[in-house]
Amino acid sequence: MNVTTEIHQRSAQGVEHFDVLIVGAGISGIDAAYHLQQHCPDKKFVLLETQETFGGTWHTHKFPGIRSDSDLFTFGYKWKPWSGPPIATAGEILKYLDEVLDEQDIRKHIRFRHSVSTATWSSKENLWTLEVQRGDTGETLRFTCNFLWMCQGYYRHAEGYTPDWPGMDRFQGRIVHPQTWPEDLDYKNKKVVVIGSGATAATIIPAMAKDCAHVTMLQRSPTYFIAKPNQNELADMLRLLDIPEAWTHEIVRRKILQEQNTIQRRSFEEPEALKQELLAGIRAYLGDDFDIETHFMPSYRPWQQRLAVILDGDMLKDIRDGRASVVTDHIESFTETGILLKSGKELEADIIVTATGFNMSALGDIAFTIDGEPLDFANCWAHRGILFSGVPNLAYVFGYLRASWTMRADMVSEFVCRLLNHMAEKGARSVTPQLRDDEKQMEPRPLIEAKNFNAGYITRQLHILPKQGDRQPWIFSQDYYAEKDEIPNADLEDGTLIYS
Ligand SMILES: Cc1cc2nc3c(=O)[nH]c(=O)nc-3n(C[C@H](O)[C@H](O)[C@H](O)COP(=O)(O)OP(=O)(O)OC[C@H]3O[C@@H](n4cnc5c(N)ncnc54)[C@H](O)[C@@H]3O)c2cc1C
Repeated sequence: MNVTTEIHQRSAQGVEHFDVLIVGAGISGIDAAYHLQQHCPDKKFVLLETQETFGGTWHTHKFPGIRSDSDLFTFGYKWKPWSGPPIATAGEILKYLDEVLDEQDIRKHIRFRHSVSTATWSSKENLWTLEVQRGDTGETLRFTCNFLWMCQGYYRHAEGYTPDWPGMDRFQGRIVHPQTWPEDLDYKNKKVVVIGSGATAATIIPAMAKDCAHVTMLQRSPTYFIAKPNQNELADMLRLLDIPEAWTHEIVRRKILQEQNTIQRRSFEEPEALKQELLAGIRAYLGDDFDIETHFMPSYRPWQQRLAVILDGDMLKDIRDGRASVVTDHIESFTETGILLKSGKELEADIIVTATGFNMSALGDIAFTIDGEPLDFANCWAHRGILFSGVPNLAYVFGYLRASWTMRADMVSEFVCRLLNHMAEKGARSVTPQLRDDEKQMEPRPLIEAKNFNAGYITRQLHILPKQGDRQPWIFSQDYYAEKDEIPNADLEDGTLIYS
């Protein structure tokens, strides 16, 4: 039976077939669709999305003040200029993506409320078969595709990560996770404790401090913050000069990347000087008498985690003016009225916000099977952090954790389209990464190394992620400045990609 007959038979059985199937309609899935249309116009594709609308992260999170931490010149796509201030609200990001869906005519390719639960590869048919649950009708559908493009993000959208503290059930107030923010939560004049001190805490605290009686940031250990105005002088100047938006976007993007490169280099070469500069930025708001060392001096090197942005110093001003405070301590237990700390101190609260991060998920919690064998991604080697050893016709997008995620999504999209076109030129129906003989003894390393990036949500779940090696193409450096040259020039015939 030839391929076309086989596909016709499948659609007669109610199974829909696509050349490429994209899982997820967040910023990465939409990016993948754009690139497919640009570079592989003959491919028939679909995006399947669990939620009722697009945007992923920016639709899921609805906590007060929700905004980007990255600037949109780099978090926005390389190919669609950003015309607003650098930091954007979730609403502004969704509007930008909405424009993309219209301008690029992508909306018609998305199926909302379609959740992929299983993916099964058959080497005989060179085909993925997916089981998909429809959220609105409860039906189970089947799709087949030649190539599966995973743009499902890196965490479980349905629920955030909340540690299990003793006594939580005794607490008489409300416990809320930012990822599942209740629409009816009234925090006016309430005492609020936010557990955690990452970017989410830095966003929520100033937004809530406007209305609540007092908000306390409770952290086990400090985070590096950088106070910045929501303004980019270069962008403002170029806009004043009426320079075309696309040029402004590209020029400002390059300048920001160059500045980030300098910070990254300095974090290795002169970490102490960089640390002191960051602390001086905090001291400028809180004054010399504030105990910066206890509350704002992390034990890790700057850039080992993303530097969390404090917009216009808002959270620091709240602390300075008494609307907010910071406590660095450990939780002993929850009580009826708040939190008892290891130091013996008690924090009173009406509402406790657990800004304690995500539950990571490897590839959208989908059960993968290859030729009848269940697939455990932890056993695979990541091929440039895009493909997996032993897994045919599957790519996934894992963006940058410290720089903007999307810069890598753009790069991965270009790589995948190049790979698809290369397969078409060769007449290959499948591509499977495989270690070369001299790589079989390679020492495995965690996909994200703690010395490089040590956020809790990653270190907690490292064991579910694939491993990396010690040489290309088995390295996942999370380093834009290395990958911007490596990925576009990657050799698709280096002996690690087996075509059939
Ligand atoms: C509050 C918050 C702020 C952030 N701020 C920044 C920032 O400023 N800069 C930055 O670089 N990064 C930031 N991030 C990280 C952020 O997740 C990424 O940058 C980016 O939005 C990820 O986009 P994505 O499309 O890859 O994944 P997501 O946004 O996670 O979208 C994935 C989509 O896939 C869908 N999906 C998952 N599994 C399935 C399945 N089995 N079937 C069908 N659909 C599925 C989900 O429903 C979701 O819509 C932030 C994250 C959070 C939570």
